[in-house]
Amino acid sequence: MAQTARVKERQAAQAQRIKQAQAFMVPNHIDVAILGGGAAGLCAAITAAEALGANKRVVVFEKALESGRTILATGGGRCNFTNANLSFENFSHPEFVQAVCKDKDIFLADILTFFRSSGLAWATEDEGRMYPLTRQASSIQSLLLKRAQKAGVQFALGREVTSVKPQHNGFIVTFKECFAGEKTYKVHASSVVLATGGLTTTKLAESLQLQTTSLRPGLCALTCTPQPPTSLDGKRVRAHATLVRNGAVLKEESGELLFRSFGLSGIMIFNLSRTALPGDVLEIDLLPQLREEEVAAAVEAHTTNGLLDPQIAAYLGAHDSVEATVAKAHKMAFTVTGTSSKVVPQVCIGGISINQVDSITLEAHDIPGLFIAGEALDIDAQCGGFNLSWAWKSGMVAGLAASKSTGQNHASLKEDN
Ligand SMILES: Cc1cc2nc3c(=O)[nH]c(=O)nc-3n(C[C@H](O)[C@H](O)[C@H](O)COP(=O)(O)OP(=O)(O)OC[C@H]3O[C@@H](n4cnc5c(N)ncnc54)[C@H](O)[C@@H]3O)c2cc1C
Repeated sequence: MAQTARVKERQAAQAQRIKQAQAFMVPNHIDVAILGGGAAGLCAAITAAEALGANKRVVVFEKALESGRTILATGGGRCNFTNANLSFENFSHPEFVQAVCKDKDIFLADILTFFRSSGLAWATEDEGRMYPLTRQASSIQSLLLKRAQKAGVQFALGREVTSVKPQHNGFIVTFKECFAGEKTYKVHASSVVLATGGLTTTKLAESLQLQTTSLRPGLCALTCTPQPPTSLDGKRVRAHATLVRNGAVLKEESGELLFRSFGLSGIMIFNLSRTALPGDVLEIDLLPQLREEEVAAAVEAHTTNGLLDPQIAAYLGAHDSVEATVAKAHKMAFTVTGTSSKVVPQVCIGGISINQVDSITLEAHDIPGLFIAGEALDIDAQCGGFNLSWAWKSGMVAGLAASKSTGQNHASLKEDN
């Protein structure tokens, strides 16, 4: 009964969102069009609208009926929105990220200043991970939407952009309404910020003749052989892993390992998944900090129960001696067979090539007036709040540069574009 009521409530909320989206008339001329209302798009829209003031139109095109929806799932619903130590080595293309963000302290200060002035209070947890004080991702979404509204940002929700074509005086943005069939509409925009995230950007990049690197899931679970038995499904341990390719060590990582019946998961595995390829070997030490006297005590007591989960010990060798079980726990080996679709990947590795973009403004070299932010670019990072940090900061940079570019006649554009 309660479930039926909840379904009805959800349907009513969805119908209300469609009604609100339909009621918005997309203007024929836009000063800054923001494509994608996720983390980067919202920061770009707020920054552009605050820089331009009330008389200019900043419009976010978002294919979902809600903006900032992608933020809600982050950090397990708590949103690990940044990290106290934003080292550039944690990103792919660290030199490019550094050129955009200047210095790691400035990078962090810019993000915290933005969120402080949006009304956020936060807390710092292990490894510098920062969360809203409420530990609710919805706090971040709602304060961004509130600030965007105050700045005069308009939202074209339920509108999927299907192509962007540069012209002498800006761009023709083509979109369809997700609630009204396949009919497409065209509007003119002086500047465009492309912030459509990782997966769906390729089509828009093609319409702009921008090159993309190949895409693959990152920060995801790995499938492997041997497959962990179902008795270990859901077991978490603190471990150390070494990723080995053709005998050479590629990467090492310490942290949480989560056994799943389909393979290996957990933050440590997510971080290694950015590098791991099928055929690589994961050597796992389940007891990285074990001291000799602790092993001696376990041997004396004839039990591994004080060192290892009993089911893990049984999997390693039910009838083995304590010494043999400990030795196996120090060197488990799994061969990577691929990535698992059972856990949603947190990032998309690859995107629009960074060498086509100016690192000061994030403007495309060959398409004046087009700026690219967030995961749409070929930038990704390890777990810990780094990916959202990039989305916020690149959104701010692109939004500010787009606001400055609106009045300009992009005369350098080639006729055949
Ligand atoms: C489950 C999960 C948990 C995560 N947790 C964290 C975390 O705790 N900390 C962290 O730093 N990172 C985390 N990430 C990664 C982080 O969410 C992304 O890196 C970040 O959201 C990228 O921001 P973006 O704005 O570039 O893209 P997105 O947030 O993906 O936003 C893109 C938006 O564009 C819209 N869109 C796409 N195509 C079109 C189109 N053609 N027309 C109109 N709209 C379009 C999409 O609907 C979407 O709203 C997590 C990711 C996932 C999936």
